[in-house]
Amino acid sequence: MSAARVSGGAFRVGTLLGIPIRIHFTFFLLLLWFGMSSASTGEGFLTGVVFILLLFGCVVLHELGHAAMARRFGVETREIVLYPIGGVARLERIPSGKAELLIALAGPLVNLVLAGMLVAWLVARQVQVSFSPQDLLAGGAPVVWQLLTANLTLFFFNLVPAFPMDGGRILRAILSMYAGQEKATRIAARVGQAFALLFALWAIVPPVKPVFLLIAFFVFVGAGQEAAYERSRSALAGLTARNAMITRYETIAPQEALGRAAELLLASHQQDFPVVDAWGRVAGLLQRGRLLAALATPGGRERAVLEVMDREPQTVSADMPLEAVLRHLQSRPLQPILVIGQEGGTTGLVGMITLDNLGEMIQIAQSSKPA
Ligand code: ZN
Repeated sequence: MSAARVSGGAFRVGTLLGIPIRIHFTFFLLLLWFGMSSASTGEGFLTGVVFILLLFGCVVLHELGHAAMARRFGVETREIVLYPIGGVARLERIPSGKAELLIALAGPLVNLVLAGMLVAWLVARQVQVSFSPQDLLAGGAPVVWQLLTANLTLFFFNLVPAFPMDGGRILRAILSMYAGQEKATRIAARVGQAFALLFALWAIVPPVKPVFLLIAFFVFVGAGQEAAYERSRSALAGLTARNAMITRYETIAPQEALGRAAELLLASHQQDFPVVDAWGRVAGLLQRGRLLAALATPGGRERAVLEVMDREPQTVSADMPLEAVLRHLQSRPLQPILVIGQEGGTTGLVGMITLDNLGEMIQIAQSSKPA
């Protein structure tokens, strides 16, 4: 899935294949809820928690499947985030055509392989079936059987051709081989929303299934987001950071006092100030929030900018395609990006880009494009 692009509220728990794995805080609520509900069915709190941890182990492997295939196409994965409704592998970029098809397929295939391994294990141990299918659904079956069912469910569920599920990407990738990328996305998004509506209808038929209603909602919104994202992406095609950057802005030197920055803040619309040293090199970024917090401390106006600034601001090269800049911005939407380029023979700050001004750029590009 790739519904949410901002990963606030997620804790880093480790690194696999060099990719940070993070868990969203709401995931712990799911653990608690599952533990308590299996305690109430007499299975024990721990059994419920262990099952969920194993299940999400399978979800991580699914996402690593996407990441490993993406790496074969030269695309790195910035992070894998686990949400209660599934995982997200955040790729640096999503390639089109055959690459997208294989990357999308790799995740569900991992679940199929895991299911195969579980079956092999059950056969090898000659495990007798001593429970009814109802037990399986109600959670009364052994954990191995529950995991087998879960992996098969993950396999089939993800193949439903609806964004943001893998099946939606598979459909889009196949369509894009015949129609253009934008048209393929539009059709795939419509199909996804139709599935979401069917799903929602099924979920409200008594007994109402609130979890599935929630999933239907996410799929519907995710499909719309994907279509909107593709429209922005195609509007930005062929443009670079240089085309969208703000070129009129104030900078401040690292040794200057915060009092000076306060004057600049009052005198302009600008919220964040690039900190540039005497040689024109970017030393950091002074953000409005940090500035105001520092000014509120005793003697704040006399403190140097360099004590307060963010020393690792996001920077991009002036030649970077805007599509890539958009992805950078979406990962830290509240922070402007500093654009580095050549000017008068020296390399230094040439502009800055905020999500606001990139949004305006997209609107201008879309309205000036022939329909
Ligand atoms: Zn997937």
